[in-house]
Amino acid sequence: RILEDVILHKEIGVKFDDIGALDKIKDAMKEVVILPLQRPELFCKGQLRKPCRGILLFGPPGTGKTMLAKAVAAEAGANLLNISTASITSKWYGDSEKFVKAIFSLASKLAPSVVFIDEVDSLLGKRRELEHEITRKVKNAFMLNWDGLRTKDMERVFVLAATNRPFDLDEAVLRRIPRRFMVHLPDVPNRSKILKVILAEEDLSRDVDFNAIAHMTDGFSGSDLKNLCVAAAYRPVREILEKDKQKSPQGAERKQTELRPLEMADFK
Ligand code: ATP
Repeated sequence: RILEDVILHKEIGVKFDDIGALDKIKDAMKEVVILPLQRPELFCKGQLRKPCRGILLFGPPGTGKTMLAKAVAAEAGANLLNISTASITSKWYGDSEKFVKAIFSLASKLAPSVVFIDEVDSLLGKRRELEHEITRKVKNAFMLNWDGLRTKDMERVFVLAATNRPFDLDEAVLRRIPRRFMVHLPDVPNRSKILKVILAEEDLSRDVDFNAIAHMTDGFSGSDLKNLCVAAAYRPVREILEKDKQKSPQGAERKQTELRPLEMADFK
């Protein structure tokens, strides 16, 4: 029960279709993670007998790495165990090796499962001379359990790690993650695709042009685009609140609730 806060169950709610762009990574994930979790029997012979057990997603902040991890677990019908450095070092300080062991044993019990380590560099970064004893122990515990994933009962457990600082990772960790995917900042066509997904359920006026917004947002990550859309969606709400303020108190019962559709000007 103590481990409950690291588990996100099958109703994770993020699907591949909720992620705009990143098509190549999604395809690779299907082959490398989802298929072996769903059909392990196809990976028991020859070259595929030792399927890859870990993937690293690296790239700038807000590019959708966490979303990808959630969607992979959801699409595979797997449980997601979400590990953050904070959960290990704060609650389990002094007992962190036990925690690591418990996570992997829980992952095996809940299989198929995906162990997601966000900001993996802060947990499994390069060895330093004056490394804290606990950091060293956590790292060793991870390596040990990671190697255990090759055993039969750990067959349907997969490790996904994400970082903005791949060069800070320990060599031994990198060796255990043979497949690495760079999650880039989106270019114009991909920003347009992401906007389409983010605004899919929004009431939009006909003048809203995804391509034009994509051209205006050079250097934006998916997360920046999401923030832009939220800010745009606030504008019609603010207008109504302004109008409410101007109305006399007697008119208060006839408050306007109907929001106008978003217009191109809201994104500028
Ligand atoms: P960090 O490195 O800071 O942890 P991250 O790469 O894990 O960031 P996410 O947390 O997955 O990024 O993305 C943050 C939010 O940005 C998401 O919840 C989502 O709203 C939006 N977002 C990012 N990328 C995309 C995308 N490709 N399609 C749709 N929404 C996106």
